[in-house]
Order: sequence, then structure tokens, then C-alpha cells
Amino acid sequence: MTYRAEYIWIDGTEPTARLRSKTKILADGADLPIWGFDGSSTNQAPGKNSDCVLKPVFTCPDPIRGGDDVLVLCEVLLTDMTPHKTNTRAQLTPVAERFAGQDSWFGIEQEYTFFKEGRPLGFPVGGFPAPQGFYYCGVGADEVYGREIVEAHLDACLEAGLAISGINAEVMPGQWEFQVGPAGPVEVSDQLWIARWLLYRIAEDFGVSATLDPKPVQGDWNGAGAHTNFSTAAMRSGYDAIITACEALGEKASEHIAGYGAGIEKRLTGMHETAPWSEYSYGVSDRGASVRIPWQVEVDKHGYIEDRRPNANCDPYVVTRLIVGTCCEALEK
Ligand code: ADP
Ligand code: MN
Ligand code: MN
Ligand code: MN
Ligand code: MN
Repeated sequence: MTYRAEYIWIDGTEPTARLRSKTKILADGADLPIWGFDGSSTNQAPGKNSDCVLKPVFTCPDPIRGGDDVLVLCEVLLTDMTPHKTNTRAQLTPVAERFAGQDSWFGIEQEYTFFKEGRPLGFPVGGFPAPQGFYYCGVGADEVYGREIVEAHLDACLEAGLAISGINAEVMPGQWEFQVGPAGPVEVSDQLWIARWLLYRIAEDFGVSATLDPKPVQGDWNGAGAHTNFSTAAMRSGYDAIITACEALGEKASEHIAGYGAGIEKRLTGMHETAPWSEYSYGVSDRGASVRIPWQVEVDKHGYIEDRRPNANCDPYVVTRLIVGTCCEALEK
């Protein structure tokens, strides 16, 4: 007998990479082998030298096919087995290892928007719905659009064993959020990429597409972000470490902004619960700051911080590498 393995990888589309996948049939009990693909079709290789290598790095049950079938997240390698330049996971792992002693945890809030027939789900043909105000965490057919897809996605993430920690309807119709974590930098990123793949794949069955576009509708409509909640063991036990992390993020603000997702200046305007991309700030309970210290954390004098800057379309391998590198280096001193 056989089982099916869905090999999933991150391509070379610029400026924002996309997910690709294909299926391998394996004999029962067979290990997951290294595999390959045509890199000339994914912006990862020239046609004359097109072979790229897929190396399995994270496996979970496939909640769509069920049974013994699995989802297999892969890294992309060159044929000499060195990391491809698009392989941002390979850039994260040495940083994560270097600071592993600080026990970093991440919880990422992935916002996204459903589209059907060229407009956000819930938007009328040729116009706009009622202004924002009732959609966030709403209930009822006049306020939420696509809940059946969201519920199917939540079930799938749970069946896959991902550390999904919640879902909510967002501020714009057709816009939603799920959270993954808390988990370590590599773990949360692997799981977020799989959760994104499941979202696209499940919405496909409903004839709907999901997009991580950071500003899917121009004008007075919220963008889509990936608020990144972060703590180390020291931050979970004392307030000085919380402040050290907030200050360190300020010193490297432009480097972080550059790695937080394409089109970030369209979303971080200073409006719609954002701080302007060009001015770093942090504050307690402040949803207009770059980095928020939750009020409970100030009361308890320990906990975590929320970096509100990453775009929905960010690469979590890059975001977690930047945050661990910046904050853990400062906390080490
Ligand atoms: P918000 O109030 O900003 O909407 P959410 O509830 O959507 O926040 O998401 C908060 C995320 O932070 C969750 O994924 C949660 O698991 C994560 N989280 C909670 N505690 C910690 C911590 N100590 N370190 C890192 N992440 C944490
Ligand atoms: Mn072929
Ligand atoms: Mn949230
Ligand atoms: Mn949100
Ligand atoms: Mn948030």
C-alpha cells in the first residue's frame, strides 16, 4: 500500500514569495526522500540549469486527505546541497541556535482577506459596503463573510497539530485573522507557512482566494498585518528585559522595516491602528505605536511585547530572525 506526501515549498516570486506544492506517492513505511522541481518555473533557476532540490524539514498529518497522508514543508537547496538564496529558513536557523539559551517564544497574528470575483468577500458589485465599525469580531450575515471557510481552516490546523491559538473576524468585511503560537522562531514560522498553505487550499474548495496583500483596498479601510508577539525567558520574568527589547528594536528600526514585508509603507501610514513606518515608538496599551506593551504586562511587570509592524505578507523566517537577532543580542549584554 501507499501514502501521499504533499511537498510544500516557498518559491522565488518577487517581491513576495508564494507557496508551491506537489504530491509524491510513497510506499507504506517509506521515509520522506529528498525531491526536486523545475526552478525555472518558480523564479528560482535559469532554464539551462533548472533543477532545484526539496529537503523535508517539517511534517504533519494532512487534514485534507486524511489517513496516513502528510504535509511536508521543504527547504529549497541547490544541487550541491547548499541553501538556495531564497531559502530564508537556512538564514534563521543559525541565529535561533545562537540564542537558543534565551528561549524565545513567538505568537504571530496572521491577518488576510478573502476575494471572490475580483473584490473582497462581502463587497457589493461596483461599490463599497457600509463603513468599518461592525465587522470586527462581528456575528450575522450582514457583518461576516466567509465564516464557513474560516471554521474549516481552523479544524484543519487543529487536525494537523499546529499551535493555532485563535481566530477572529477583522475590521474590514472579508478580512480575518488567525494566530499561531506561542512557539520558538523556527517552529512558529514553519507552522505559519503550513497554516497559510491550508488557508489557500481550503478556500480553493469554496471558489474563494485568500490574499496576504497588506493594503487590499485603498482608502478608509484597514490594511492586513502580522502582529508579532515576542518574549524571552528574561522578558517573561522581569520588566527591565521588556524595556531593553523595546529600545533595541528602536535602534534597528529601518533594518526591521525593510524585512517586514513588501509595500509596508502603504500600510504603516499612521492611520488605521498603525504607527508611521518612518517613526519608531513603543508604549503601553498603545495600538498607535510600532511596538505595544500589553497593559497586563505593565501591571505584572513581566510578559511579552507586540511588534505591530510586520505586514500580512511578511516572511516569518525573516521577521523572527530580525527580532531574535536584535533583542537577544541586546539582552545578552
Ligand atoms: P491581540 O490582542 O493583539 O489581538 P492576539 O490574542 O490576537 O493579540 O494574539 C496574541 C498572540 O500572542 C497569541 O498567538 C499568543 O499565543 C501569543 N502570546 C501570548 N503570550 C506570549 C508570550 N509570552 N510570548 C510570545 N507570544 C505570546
Ligand atoms: Mn514534468
Ligand atoms: Mn489579534
Ligand atoms: Mn488583528
Ligand atoms: Mn495584535
